[in-house]
Parts: sequence; C-alpha cells; structure tokens
Amino acid sequence: MRTYGCQMNVHDSERISGLLDEAGYVPVLEGSTPDLVVFNTCAVRENADNKLYGNLGHLKPLKERTPGMQIAVGGCLAQKDQGTILDKAPYVDVVFGTHNVGSLPVLLERARVEQEAQVELLESLEVFPSTLPARRESPYSAWVSISVGCDNTCTFCIVPSLRGKEEDRRPGDVLREIEVLVEQGVLEVTLLGQNVNSYGRSFGDREAFGKLLRAAGRTGLDRIRFTSPHPRDFTDDVIAAMAETPAVCPSLHMPLQSGSDAVLKAMRRSYRSERYLGILDRVRSQIPDAAITTDIIVGFPGESDADFDETLRVVEASRFAGAFTFQYSPRPGTPAATYDDQVPPEVVAERYQRLVALQEQITYDGMLAQVGRTVEVLLSQGEGRKDGPAQMTGRARDNRLVHLPREQACRPGDLVEVAVTGAAPHYLRADEPLLSHRRTAAGDAWAAGRALRTPGVSLGMPSVGVPA
Ligand code: SF4
Repeated sequence: MRTYGCQMNVHDSERISGLLDEAGYVPVLEGSTPDLVVFNTCAVRENADNKLYGNLGHLKPLKERTPGMQIAVGGCLAQKDQGTILDKAPYVDVVFGTHNVGSLPVLLERARVEQEAQVELLESLEVFPSTLPARRESPYSAWVSISVGCDNTCTFCIVPSLRGKEEDRRPGDVLREIEVLVEQGVLEVTLLGQNVNSYGRSFGDREAFGKLLRAAGRTGLDRIRFTSPHPRDFTDDVIAAMAETPAVCPSLHMPLQSGSDAVLKAMRRSYRSERYLGILDRVRSQIPDAAITTDIIVGFPGESDADFDETLRVVEASRFAGAFTFQYSPRPGTPAATYDDQVPPEVVAERYQRLVALQEQITYDGMLAQVGRTVEVLLSQGEGRKDGPAQMTGRARDNRLVHLPREQACRPGDLVEVAVTGAAPHYLRADEPLLSHRRTAAGDAWAAGRALRTPGVSLGMPSVGVPA
C-alpha cells in the first residue's frame, strides 16, 4: 500500500487494508515481491501526477516478471484522471475512486477472472468508508472520519470536485466507533473532515460539532484532536466545548491561507483577517496554552507586495506554534489556475523565504516558552529521526514534539509526565528523569506487535442529533 496526501487518504488506506485483510490478503514484508500493489493517490500538488506515473513506470518490469501480480490505483488522482491512467499505464488492473473504496476486492477479482482492467468511479459516495473494516498501524491513536467532501468552493482547491459535496456521518456511528476504539485501548482520536466545523449542517444542527466534542469527551478517551476546521464556521460553542472538555487537546490547526482580505476574497475563503484574528483571541482567552498552527499559500494570483505584507502582519499577530507554508501552484481544474495575474515564480520564491524566516522565529519562540513547564507526553513510534537505544519521542497535549532519553520500561502508547528542559526550533527536550509513567493497554498492544483491526461501524439509525 502506497499512500499519498492528506489524513483523509491515510484514513481511507486503513480501510483499504482492512478490506484486503478480510479478502485474504496479508501485508507484504518490505523488499519481497507483492502479489498486489495499491496506490492511494493525491491530486492537490502538481507533482502528484509525476509521482504516480513515475512509480507505475518503475513497477512495469516487475509486473511483467511476476505472473498474477496486480496493480490498483485509487484516491483523488484516480477520481480526476479516471481512464487516462490506463492510457498512460495499460498494465494497471484496477482504477477506483474516492467514493467507492469498498468495491476494490470485487474489482480485483473481476480483473483476474476476466483478464481485463477494471475502471469503476462514482460521482457520489457509495458507502461511508467508516462502515468498512480497518487495519490501523497505531494501537494508541486513530483517525475517525466525521464527514467526507466539502461544500466550500475555495478557488485554489480541487477537493470538492474529487470528494464531492459534504456528507456527515451520523453522530451515533461516530461515537460507536470511538467506543470500539477505546475498548481496544486507543488513547487518542483525531476527528477528521475537510471542514469539521460545518458538521451537522446535513441534519440541521449547527452546534453538532461542539456537542460531538463533548460527547466524545465522555467515552474515556485521553486525547481528542480534530482537523480541519474552517474559520468561517468556527463558532463560540466549539471554543467552549474545547475549553470545557478535558480530553480535547489544546491544539488547533486552522488554515489562514492568506492575511490579505483582497486575496482571501479571490480565494473565496468567506472570512477576512479581522475575523480570523478574533477567533484566535477568543480561543486564547478560554484556552491560554492553545498551540495554534495553520496553512498559508504564498503567491496566489493577483497577490501584490501590499497583500503579502498583510500576510506577514497577520502571521506576526497570530503567534502560530507552526505553519505549513506553500508556494502557490496552479492546479488544473481549479478556477484560480485560469486567473490571468499569476505571480512570477521568482517573486513567489522570494516572498516564501521571508514568510518561512518569520514563522521559523515565531515557532522557536513558542518552543522556548515551554522550557520549565511540566507536560504529558504520549510516546509514539517513528516520529523521532534519532529514536533508538538512547532516545524516544512523543507528543505533548499541545501536539509539540518532545524528545527524551530512552527508558527501557517505556513503550510507544505509554503516557509519561516530564519537565521540559530545552527547546529547538521544531521540538522540545526533556532530559530529566520521568515525573510519572503510565503503562497502557496500547503500549502492551504495541509491545505485542498487534496492529489494530476494527470492524466497520454503521448503526443504521436515522440522522438524530448528537447526545447533548
Ligand atoms: S475548505 Fe476549501 S480548501 Fe478546504 S477542502 Fe474545502 S474547498 Fe478545499
């Protein structure tokens, strides 16, 4: 399984793995020849195409040497390119889309029996991916999708045309899935949606997301996170739910995209910088330690020097704990790709460097401010490049990365309390002895090498409101 792109794709890949498990497939060991290769693709960045077709090209000779081997391509690029994938790579066996993840095993079987490539894409959701079984790589943290698709029309974004209109999962299904995960020892859940704040619009409850946070906070979870909110729909009931639900972590990722009101208008982001900054003020007044991160695009068509200065002003005022920064790249199929006033690449690159330099300093200042504090760390696997006999790594509740000396008794999935003794631009250090160590069932599962297999969840109940 090769997964590209966002958390939504990671979530879908866990479902694809769960489905294939049930169909009798087993994960192949790194370096040995698989019978099946699945690409779950992304379509957000220009080089997403090059990456896929490059990888398919590399696989061609292996497929020719391995009778019966199958290749399947799914995800957003498959949804966008459809049959074109077979034109460019006729040795692909199955092309499936973002709306019919569940049909992969049947399509593979049909391609094998009929000795013919199968292309099946739907324009709208067949079944909620969350009703499908999942194999999750982590026994201690899990993605739980609450909605798919998006009703917004940001002019740089291709997601709505590939993932469709927003469809909300029934609150009962979401909470039942969380309960199953808690029973299996999961400590942390990230609620997932293209725009989590508009959750409930489809069943007429504008405060459904805040209520869902509160209800999830009563399931026994240690940590609740969510991504991505949209500033236009970020309401005070959500801030109150975050502040009043102990399990909800004080970390918030809220895309700004630009600090210029003129550019936000051209992006069709339906909020302006003043509203954005106002939300941050209200969040910080109720959650003073909140670590807020964001996404910013530099060089959107029509962005002037004055517009970019506005972005720097808002970034300076926002004091983000971190930011994902992007140089604008026109995405075929999006309105902005056809705009006349594209900004010259050298201007975009120069502005990008200035933004990164400013945010790097702000991020580091935020890290330095943590020194001397006591934080709870959920130990993780694979997040620290230098992890090994001497070092282990985890995430604090505000999602900052923490490196600490390895303790033999500690396993990924355990919770420890530590004093922050140092800071670097992108992580904290905790070099003094642990203040506390909570061994968890998730840590036991990790030590036993157990991947987390969860059944699909669909209670089939009508869209009732979220239990208040
Ligand atoms: S909110 Fe905008 S950027 Fe986000 S997925 Fe929807 S259209 Fe794309």
